[in-house]
Parts: sequence; C-alpha cells; structure tokens
Amino acid sequence: MNINKKKVVIIGSGFSSLSAACYLAKKGFNVSLFEKNDTVGGRARQLITEGFTFDIGPSWYWMPDIFDRFFADFGKQTSDYYQLDKLSPAYKIFFEDDIITIGDCMDKICEEFERIEKGSSRHLKKFIAKAQRNYDIAINEIVYRPGLSPLELVTKDTILRVDQFFKTISQEVRKNFKNPKLISTLEFPVLFLGAKPNNTPAFYSFMNFADFGLGTWHPKGGMYQIILGMKSLAMELGVTIRTDSPVDKIIVREGKATGILVNSETIDADMVLSGADYHHTETLLDSSYRQYSEKYWQRKTFAPSSLLFFIGFDKKLENIEHHNLFFDTDFSEHASEIYDNPKWPTRPLFYANFPSVTDKSMAPGNKENAFFLIPIAPGLEDTPELREQYFDIVLKRFQERTGQSVENNIIFKKSFCVNDFKEQYNSYKGNAYGMANTLLQTAFLRPGLKSKKINNLFFTGQLTVPGPGVPPSLISGKLVSELMEKNN
Ligand SMILES: Cc1cc2nc3c(=O)[nH]c(=O)nc-3n(C[C@H](O)[C@H](O)[C@H](O)COP(=O)(O)OP(=O)(O)OC[C@H]3O[C@@H](n4cnc5c(N)ncnc54)[C@H](O)[C@@H]3O)c2cc1C
Repeated sequence: MNINKKKVVIIGSGFSSLSAACYLAKKGFNVSLFEKNDTVGGRARQLITEGFTFDIGPSWYWMPDIFDRFFADFGKQTSDYYQLDKLSPAYKIFFEDDIITIGDCMDKICEEFERIEKGSSRHLKKFIAKAQRNYDIAINEIVYRPGLSPLELVTKDTILRVDQFFKTISQEVRKNFKNPKLISTLEFPVLFLGAKPNNTPAFYSFMNFADFGLGTWHPKGGMYQIILGMKSLAMELGVTIRTDSPVDKIIVREGKATGILVNSETIDADMVLSGADYHHTETLLDSSYRQYSEKYWQRKTFAPSSLLFFIGFDKKLENIEHHNLFFDTDFSEHASEIYDNPKWPTRPLFYANFPSVTDKSMAPGNKENAFFLIPIAPGLEDTPELREQYFDIVLKRFQERTGQSVENNIIFKKSFCVNDFKEQYNSYKGNAYGMANTLLQTAFLRPGLKSKKINNLFFTGQLTVPGPGVPPSLISGKLVSELMEKNN
C-alpha cells in the first residue's frame, strides 16, 4: 500500500506530538492531531492577561543544539520561527547566607566558584570536560535510539564508562567538591530529569555541560514561541490540527487500532499515536489491550508535581535575574518529602522566574511578570487553603532574601497545582514532568514507544523514551515517527 495514503491520528499537541506530527507529515503520512484543550502546546501553554504573558510550563531553554537539529531536519532554522537570546547571567541561586551567580561562560563561572572555594575552578574544569564527553556520547550515540533493546546502551564509549551508570551524580559531585553550596549548584541540573541526585546515574552529568557549557537561552516572547513555530511548521507540512477535541476512546478491532472517538465522532486511522500521558492513554483502551497494570504505575518513580503561581507586579523588582533559585533551606529534607515520604514540604525550596527582566514583551512597562514554582510530590491533596499557605511562605522568603517588600504590589495572581495538572492534561497523579530518569527507568526500561499488544498503536512524550523535558520530547517525536515508518 502507498505510504502517502496512510492516515495517522495523534492524540495531544505537546512538544512530543507536534514533533512527531512534523516528522510523519514529512515522511508522507496524512496526519491529523487532536487536542482536548482549546490551544495547542500541552504543558507548555501560555496565559496572556492584563498585558502580562506567562509561560505556564517550561521556562528554561537548554540544549539549543537539539532545537536547531529539529528545525534543520525540515530545512529550517530556529531563527525562522523565533529570536533566541543567551541570558547573561544565566541564573542566580539564593542561599541562606550568600548568592551564587552563574555567568554565561566558563570563565565567569570559574571565578564565582573560586570566590566560594579556593582551588575549586580546577576541579570544575575537569568535571565539565568529563560532562562534555558524556554529552557528546549521550546526544550522538544514545538518546536518538528508540529504547527497544539493552544493546542500544552498549557502545565502545559507554563500556569505557560503565562505572558512571552505577555511581550516582551525587557521589560524583561530592568526590570533587566539598562546599555545600557548590554541591547544590552542581546537583541542580539533574533535577530536570525528575529524580533525586542520589538516585540519578553519574553519566547524567551531561546536564552539567548543558548548563555551564551550552548556556541558558530565552526565546523572545517566551517559550510558547517554540510551540507556535512548531505549529506553523506542522501546518506548512500539511498537518490538520483540531483543538477542543478530547479523545474518549481508542477503537480496537481484532487487535488493530482502527481509529479514535472524539466528541462522539469516529475518526478512522491506519495508525494511532498518543502524546498524552501514557497512563491516561491506556485508560482509553479496553483493559485487555493495556500493557501496564495500576501496580506497575504505582511502583514507578514519577517526577514531581508543582505548585505554581503566576503573578503580575505593578512595579519593577530589585535584586532578581530572569531565573532565580531559592536554595536557602535543606535540599535533602525537601527531596525526601517529594520522593521518600510524600507530603507537603516543611521548608520548601522554590524557583522564581521573571522573564520581563530581560524581555520587555512579557509585561507592560514598569511592571514585572513572575512565575513561582514549588516542586511537590505527585498525588498530594490540593486545596485552595494549602496553596495560599505556601504562597505566603514563599513570598515572605522571597522578600527577605531579595530585601524588598512586594506583597502590596500584586495586581494579578493565579495558581496551578495537582488538580489542574490532572484536569487539564489527564496527568497521572498530577505529575508535572512525567516519569523520572533513574537507572531503572532509562531507555528500554521505560514504557515503550510501541504497544506490545496492538501492532499499530504508538506512544510518545515525557513518560516514554527518552524522558522528561522539552529537548527529550522533541527527540521522542522523531524516534516514534521512525518506528511508525518501519511498521508499514
Ligand atoms: C511547570 C513545568 C515546568 C517545566 N519546566 C521545564 C523547563 O524549564 N525546561 C524543560 O525542558 N522542560 C520543562 N518542563 C517539562 C516539559 O514541559 C515537558 O517535558 C514537555 O512539555 C512534555 O511534553 P509532552 O508532549 O510529553 O506532554 P504534554 O505537554 O503534556 O502534552 C500532552 C497533551 O495531550 C493532551 N491530552 C491529554 N489527554 C488527551 C485526550 N484524551 N485527548 C486529547 N488530548 C489529550 C494534553 O492536553 C496535552 O496537550 C516543565 C514542565 C512543567 C509542567
């Protein structure tokens, strides 16, 4: 049968679905994408209100090479769709008694490390050189593989580094650095992978190279510009996009997916791909076609959920950068309250994002746009009272650490938490960043891109291969499109 006539339906419109849609359309499939919400983008949607533009999900643009590769696969450049600026400084970390500023190049970062601990820049250079080698291996040899077999992880380079898969990033950092602030700074990047540093293989130090070596970038107008770029590209390639279209069922006949049910309408398909949360997608199937039991999901280490606040201030704030981490409490206590003994954190660490510091388009003149994020365990009780209690905690700490009063300058405030993640994205337990990348949840050990029970049903996104984050979601879309092409 001619591949050009094959019809693919895609559930969801997050980064992974949009990526897959572009690749599949380029390969000649007839692609239609169905999104339950009224706009595309999934966890990366945007809220525009009262002159403020809030990205409501990702805000750190790391690994620019992966975005460049994505657009290059279509003969395009990132700059065809959005303007990218390197942030300088990249970010700032507030500790109880000091502030560490991460500059936009290794020289500045080394200077800051020396200020904190004499002699540490020598260790840092070695650590980052090793991290860079890991990055090259990860990006060129491992991450673009579909997770079908353990052999994918076996290369000349990984054999030489096998110890790094069994040591943790926490051990690796502590071997080289003694100062607790430098340790926290170097353990921060792997938090994007969704697990504790002492449960993440040392090989993932490639995230440190992404951080210090490649830098932190900002698309002018916010992260949603990437989504808009990918949507334009998909449409240029002929993809049909339908929003306000929740998929209620994946229709299966005699072991084959024949289509989906959307708003009581049956849409026929030759292949079905879901970029919605994996657990939710399986609930769209009759139970005999599900691959994983509820017990399976319960046993998995999920990345955290988050309590988020989007805030508009009526003045410019002081002593802040575009990205700010508040590591002024005990990291291990908070981590344990996320992973080991899930409960609302006693003394939460938090992140504050002020994109209007570097991008005037994000807030009206003389006003500031803010996004506060507290990572929490997925599945926690979520009530308006708890949200307010934690807003007071972080606002008080923010005022103390930055030495200013802002509580009377709030002109807009909206929160987002576990219940919203469940309701808006059908997220399992309200997770924010999918399933963590621990050693036992890496590559072929993650839920697969292809159903083991239905030959023409596929999955993509942050719960499958390669894992959480925007760059992995772009890669996930590419990997699944290749499997689907082969399945013909
Ligand atoms: C608060 C937050 C901060 C983050 N920060 C960063 C960051 O700074 N940098 C970074 O790289 N990553 C970050 N991430 C992670 C990153 O955003 C995600 O990994 C990525 O966006 C996931 O994309 P996805 O395609 O897998 O899933 P999603 O974006 O969740 O897409 C799934 C889509 O499926 C839709 N859907 C669900 N059920 C149905 C149905 N039945 N019918 C139709 N549609 C359905 C959903 O509405 C959604 O649009 C962050 C995430 C969050 C939540």
